[in-house]
Amino acid sequence: MSIQTSDSNSNDYGKALSLIAAHSHISGLGLDEHLQPKATSQGMVGQTQARRAAGVILKMVQNGTIAGRAVLLAGPPSTGKTALAMGLSQSLGQDVPFTAIAGSEIFSLELSKTEALTQAFRKSIGVKIKEETEMIEGEVVEIQIDKSITGGHKQGKLTIKTTDMETIYELGSKMIEGLTKEKVLAGDVISIDKASVKITKLGRSFARSRDYDAMGADTRFVQCPEGELQKRKSVVHTVSLHEIDVINSRTQGFLALFTGDTGEIRSEVRDQINTKVAEWKEEGKADIVPGVLFIDEVHMLDIECFSFINRALEDEFAPIVVMATNRGISKTRGTNYKSPHGLPLDLLDRSIIITTQNYNEQEIKTILSIRAQEEEVELATEALDLLTKIGTETSLRYASNLISVSQQIAQKRKSNSIEVVDIKRAYLLFLDSSRSVKFLQEYQPQYIDDQGNVQIASGE
Ligand code: ATP
Repeated sequence: MSIQTSDSNSNDYGKALSLIAAHSHISGLGLDEHLQPKATSQGMVGQTQARRAAGVILKMVQNGTIAGRAVLLAGPPSTGKTALAMGLSQSLGQDVPFTAIAGSEIFSLELSKTEALTQAFRKSIGVKIKEETEMIEGEVVEIQIDKSITGGHKQGKLTIKTTDMETIYELGSKMIEGLTKEKVLAGDVISIDKASVKITKLGRSFARSRDYDAMGADTRFVQCPEGELQKRKSVVHTVSLHEIDVINSRTQGFLALFTGDTGEIRSEVRDQINTKVAEWKEEGKADIVPGVLFIDEVHMLDIECFSFINRALEDEFAPIVVMATNRGISKTRGTNYKSPHGLPLDLLDRSIIITTQNYNEQEIKTILSIRAQEEEVELATEALDLLTKIGTETSLRYASNLISVSQQIAQKRKSNSIEVVDIKRAYLLFLDSSRSVKFLQEYQPQYIDDQGNVQIASGE
């Protein structure tokens, strides 16, 4: 898996890393070979319906049949939407690019919204470039030669395994002499190219398969084992369209790839690259690998961004866009109208929607115990029970956050294991959101209001 993060500045990077750290216990979608969810697997617990749906998406991404589509993960807070996306990215494997951003990252001072989105889209498209390399001296080469070249026998094959260039020269001499009457001199470079047929001396091709054919059966003396040589000789690099953009952008240069300071890239550069990549694809030199762009908190985007996404999904090179939101009917930013999940209807219309549901007590317990293991924390059974109760009554995320706080408290009393008393203390020290609201309502007058006024309550 290659997870790209929006790395336009170090803050974004930190944000993306912490996004991943909260899900470090997740190593996949936890599906079996038929893409059916196992109850608990690869760190994933429950949420089976959504995981099954994510499994279908996974298959389609792997088959390359879903580029240019949008998937919306919608559900209440802490129901595993981001966890699902992370599981999907883990299951995709090394070669499929996966880019994760949060909706709010688009609003940066350095880049325009559309540039930031364009970069995120292009980070999510992989270009697999196949490169034929010259065979290097000293590499092990296996060549099968019909005995007709050595002893005049027509039957049988002789296999020579060698790292010795002398042997290759000798064989090459015979082949080249046979075909061109030229001698191979010491120091000449001979490469045996592709599967069976091209022998090059000093960069010139002397023989091709049709030449052999034309010369009749006896002279078809070279047969390199196909798989063997091709494996050695073609190197595949996978880069993202964004990386090609940056490398070719004269104003930025490739060093920007390390600093993340890519700035705006001119649209002409991107057009040229699109043309070039399309050519490579046509010539069989490159494959396009549509990856996944994950936009968390997608409701933070505004109407201009949504309209950009709509258009970008129709682009020749489009990834699959997975979005997540916990909003119900709410206002689309930049407009005065409300819509489901705060997304404009046209984008909603082209999206496949996967919903996530709240967890039951047992699922919360399992997730919390996996998190404790992940944080290398020992939780007493009763402590886990209490934490689970807190999780059910407040939120999974709050309960999960209490783990590390309780550990600190436990360490203070020199205990390696978190007990009920530690959880209780942590619960009293740190408010969950509903107690925080209650507290605010009670002490509202002491806070600064919208107008900048403080109304100190009289006496109490
Ligand atoms: P929000 O809407 O608030 O962004 P979310 O739906 O994206 O929430 P997550 O951040 O994925 O929720 O989940 C909260 C925490 O619980 C994370 O640490 C996540 O890894 C964990 N978690 C959620 N669902 C599962 C699950 N099914 N299996 C294992 N861990 C989970």
